[in-house]
Amino acid sequence: MTAIEVLKKYFGYDNFRAGQSEIINHILKKEDCLGIMPTGAGKSICYQIPAMVFNGVTVVISPLISLMKDQVDSLNQVGIPATYINSSLTESDYLQTIQNIYHGMYKIIYVAPERFFSDTFISMLNFLDISMIAIDEAHCVSQWGHDFRPSYCEISKTISSLTKRPVVVSFTATATTVVKDDIIKLLDLHSPFVLTTGFDRKNLYFSVQTPESKKEFLLKFLEEHKNMCGIIYCSTRKTVDEVYERLCNYGYKVSKYHAGMSEKSRSTFQDDFVYDRTEIMVATNAFGMGIDKSNVRYVIHYNMPSDLESYYQEAGRAGRDGDKAECVLLFSRADVVTNKFLIEHSYEGNHSNEYQKLNDIVDYCNTSKCLRSYILEYFGETPNFNNCKFCSNCNSEMEITDITIDSKKILSCIKRMNERFGAGLVADVLKGSKSAKVKDFGFDSLSTYGIMSEYSRDTIRDLISFLVAEGYIKSIGDKYPILTLNSKANEVLFSDSKVTINKKIERSLKPEKNSKNDSESLTFDNILLEILRELRMEVSKQNNVPPFIIFSDVSLKQMCTYYPTDVDSMLKISGVGAFKLEKYGDVFIASIRNYVQEHNIKKLDILEEHKNKSNFTSKVDTKFVSYELYTKDSKNIKEIAEVRGLTERTIEQHLLDCYENGLIIDLEKEVNIRFENEIYKAINKCNSGRLREIKDMLPNEVSYFDIKYYLIKINKKLNY
Ligand code: ADP
Repeated sequence: MTAIEVLKKYFGYDNFRAGQSEIINHILKKEDCLGIMPTGAGKSICYQIPAMVFNGVTVVISPLISLMKDQVDSLNQVGIPATYINSSLTESDYLQTIQNIYHGMYKIIYVAPERFFSDTFISMLNFLDISMIAIDEAHCVSQWGHDFRPSYCEISKTISSLTKRPVVVSFTATATTVVKDDIIKLLDLHSPFVLTTGFDRKNLYFSVQTPESKKEFLLKFLEEHKNMCGIIYCSTRKTVDEVYERLCNYGYKVSKYHAGMSEKSRSTFQDDFVYDRTEIMVATNAFGMGIDKSNVRYVIHYNMPSDLESYYQEAGRAGRDGDKAECVLLFSRADVVTNKFLIEHSYEGNHSNEYQKLNDIVDYCNTSKCLRSYILEYFGETPNFNNCKFCSNCNSEMEITDITIDSKKILSCIKRMNERFGAGLVADVLKGSKSAKVKDFGFDSLSTYGIMSEYSRDTIRDLISFLVAEGYIKSIGDKYPILTLNSKANEVLFSDSKVTINKKIERSLKPEKNSKNDSESLTFDNILLEILRELRMEVSKQNNVPPFIIFSDVSLKQMCTYYPTDVDSMLKISGVGAFKLEKYGDVFIASIRNYVQEHNIKKLDILEEHKNKSNFTSKVDTKFVSYELYTKDSKNIKEIAEVRGLTERTIEQHLLDCYENGLIIDLEKEVNIRFENEIYKAINKCNSGRLREIKDMLPNEVSYFDIKYYLIKINKKLNY
């Protein structure tokens, strides 16, 4: 079988993602390889596919027990015989597994590094026909990687002791040059082909928010993200407990995770989250390594983390399935203080590197430039855009304010204080504080003393942070950094150069959300999605694997767009391969068929067409075609459906989207206005926000279309 055939047959995907086919081709030529790709890029497939193409067995060394189990479960689900060996196996399971391996029952064997060196394992490797050894999370070999594992350093010795050296491939998401060089050297890769894909995660929406109340922000955010899975990271156990309690009180299904809990309760909560029994995970950074849950739709950092490396790694746990997801960082000045405290109390020694990293993430929070390009530049890339249109800075309306005069005041104050003091004291002087320190230094006699008294101290500090982030001021030192002026400051002080601040106009999240999610929300059928999610949950329980391993959210959404009611069309859904089709195809097809009949949806034959141009614009265009037919040509929904060869349901959704997005459209002639009041009442009564629950409270004549229409109408009123 060729690589692309394996991709289709087992994984159910039509195309390779960036970098995958290139690296697979090199592996198939038996060249050692190193793949550096961000989380969620699809590294596993890069070695799993050659493993199926090669004749022999592939051994995968992976550091995380939980991840191994998930990977093996996923492989078994798609029909690839795989197993794992690690300390979680009981003695008898272990013996059984070894026996099975000797009998040639598996194509892929996952193993923890510690087990890899055992004599039993080595003699087994020499007995078997090993075609490839793949090393996952290869940065663990390097002291400079963030989770160094000494046992990784022994891997190359073991490989070289084998009677026949298989092809050796390795993967990591850590991009720095030192780590890369270490991997090649310490794993003893032979003239490896090295592939680095960009670090951009296009489906992630990055956002920095500085809300007055984080609590309120969070509640509002969750309200707008009901029925979605997300992680909320907090910097301390105490905050985790508080946020967890609060969300429980508000009726959310929540898990929590931190090092202060018993192992048992941690793993129960974790399983609840992975198996979709809870929707929200509130956790410290102890949570997440080895969690492969693909349908995490948002990651909120309730507190600013200590550096951008951790941030990008944690935020990167959102949207692994490639579907849109949000990464929100809630910033407050108190977070800077907490982080400084944590650095000071971490261990003895020089902390300047950590302080530098802290400054970088504070700058990320303060910058007004594109957040995505900030991150990518931080990781050493040169993005070919400066406006990604998909982060909170690019997506906000900016109000440009000239702050040259205030900037001059601040810069000249720093200069008059001989560039020897920190932001706190500079702010005090500008504010006109009567503190002893200000007087002792004689700063109350400076001409800049009290010249910004109309501002709060915090506002002055914010302005200083902004000037630091924009490179006018340099903040030097660790614990008590002092402010000095960069040459850029002189241009402001002496050459009339202007300073402007692009202030984000607070937009409610709703419109942001719409504009981002259009490509998905336009076409898929939410009601069917609820039905299929429930079905997936049942199937997941029966098979004892997490729901996302049965089918990803992306697969379900495609089913809800294209209504596959037979085997052929089901196979065209992304993520549905031959094996999964055989295993689960029938129940899902039956459920979709039922739904299609019940709702009188015409069987669609547009799958191919949609697949070929399933990009954002084509879907937006299609919506406007319906809009024009409705408003200009005065056709009704039924007529438009006929003309366009689409279902009435799709047209309804097109028009509702247009209405929701503020286009002028009169839908009252299409809805059942007789029940308007009842519908409002039902909406108010419904706790879950689920359409189905609302529908069940109302007479049969009320359609989903009616309910959706009034939901939008209410929202519009509220937003107004
Ligand atoms: P990584 O190890 O790089 O973090 P994974 O290997 O876990 O990423 O892949 C992330 C997700 O992307 C998985 O759900 C996987 O099935 C999916 N995926 C991988 N390759 C493709 C592809 N070519 N087409 C569609 N989805 C893919």
